[in-house]
Amino acid sequence: MIDKILIANRGEIALRILRACRELGIKTVAVHSEADRDLKHVRLADESVCIGPNSSTESYLNVPALISAAEITDTVAIHPGYGFLSENADFAERVEECGFIFIGPKSETIRIMGDKVAAIAAMKKTGVPCVPGSDGPLGTNDETNQRIAHEIGYPIIIKASGGGGGRGMRVVHSEATLHNAISLTKAEAGAAFNNDVVYMEKFLENPRHIEIQVLSDAHGSAIHLAERDCSMQRRHQKVIEEAPAPGITEEMRKKIGERCARACEDIGYRGAGTFEFLYEDGEFYFIEMNTRVQVEHPVTEMITGVDIVREQILIAAGEPLSYKQSDIKINGHAMECRLNAEDPNNFMPSPGTILNYHAPGGPGIRVDTHLYNGYRVPPFYDSMIGKLIAHGPNRDIAMARMRNALAEVVIDGIKTNIPLHQELFRDAAFQAGGTNIHYLEKKLDEKSKQG
Ligand code: ADP
Repeated sequence: MIDKILIANRGEIALRILRACRELGIKTVAVHSEADRDLKHVRLADESVCIGPNSSTESYLNVPALISAAEITDTVAIHPGYGFLSENADFAERVEECGFIFIGPKSETIRIMGDKVAAIAAMKKTGVPCVPGSDGPLGTNDETNQRIAHEIGYPIIIKASGGGGGRGMRVVHSEATLHNAISLTKAEAGAAFNNDVVYMEKFLENPRHIEIQVLSDAHGSAIHLAERDCSMQRRHQKVIEEAPAPGITEEMRKKIGERCARACEDIGYRGAGTFEFLYEDGEFYFIEMNTRVQVEHPVTEMITGVDIVREQILIAAGEPLSYKQSDIKINGHAMECRLNAEDPNNFMPSPGTILNYHAPGGPGIRVDTHLYNGYRVPPFYDSMIGKLIAHGPNRDIAMARMRNALAEVVIDGIKTNIPLHQELFRDAAFQAGGTNIHYLEKKLDEKSKQG
């Protein structure tokens, strides 16, 4: 049994993992950089180890330091959270080679899913619907590439197989620019990801981002926990998420959800995972799989009652899933606002000391944050400082509760994106539901033009 977990992360997700460990009676080891001594979970953990200086390369991404911390504390398992090393196959492999349990899929699975061409091939094989595309890497023969693009139909998008974080992509509208786009993307990908493999996909013009949460145990059983809509994005970063997705019927959910669960069983997936899709004109198109817990997991927890982090730990301990598919019922609607320490007008980071923090409350409100009065948000890491989650019997009530929460929450001392969220929750199209992935960006553009 796992009786001690090292949390290889920081901020709100480290605290979230610590809470799950405590519920399960598991001891915790917090690791932190020099800048992060005062993180809430560091104070609450049974043990803590400083693993390096402020820069994440030297701390949260420092594999030898993490492994040493695990060794000296007699850790049994390592939870990577999200970001940092959570989708690094070499890290997962190293963790297991050193005799610890990695709370996540097998390193081979992470490696496949980290390579988009390999991931798409694996998905196609198990029958998950993918974007019409080049069926593998693009070669250097112009005629062949032109033929593939012609068959798919313009506009198309050239994507780097090793890309991530919305980088390494180029849209092509006609044959005239195809050759250049391929060579440029290839060169950039080689430099940025050390992998110059590129492939081609149909460019979907106005899709929504809808993703399916899955849980799969080490005994070959998998279930899905329905979908989330994460279409409200800026620069490919999600800003607001919700579950279920507006307009998705029970029948559609069952079809795509079960496809994903069967895919997990086929590929021997282990742990929590997310199948990300673009959704357009009633069709789902797989774009990638995330092999870790996601920032937006709470909206799914709120509507299903399943504790995803707890399940991750139990799966890693070798337990069978606690739920059958028929146990999973959707209860109401949940929405999440990501709170960032940033200027709501120009999105510049705004680190600093929290002079006054007051949490919102009331029915259906959940706050996942590591903030407290006097906490200093360091300038070295991602600007997300927490998440506000509102649950209600339906979408309108969830939104009304979120508006209340946004009006109640007080975070003084730094700038936050709360005013932006307030504005979005007053936006008519967003309130109606089902806006596409370009909606937020367009709205912000118009706003900046108006000055
Ligand atoms: P990353 O790993 O960099 O996040 P993804 O493959 O998940 O890359 O794509 C990131 C974003 O790029 C998507 O959320 C979508 O906005 C856009 N995108 C990717 N592929 C397509 C496509 N075929 N058509 C339209 N937009 C796309």
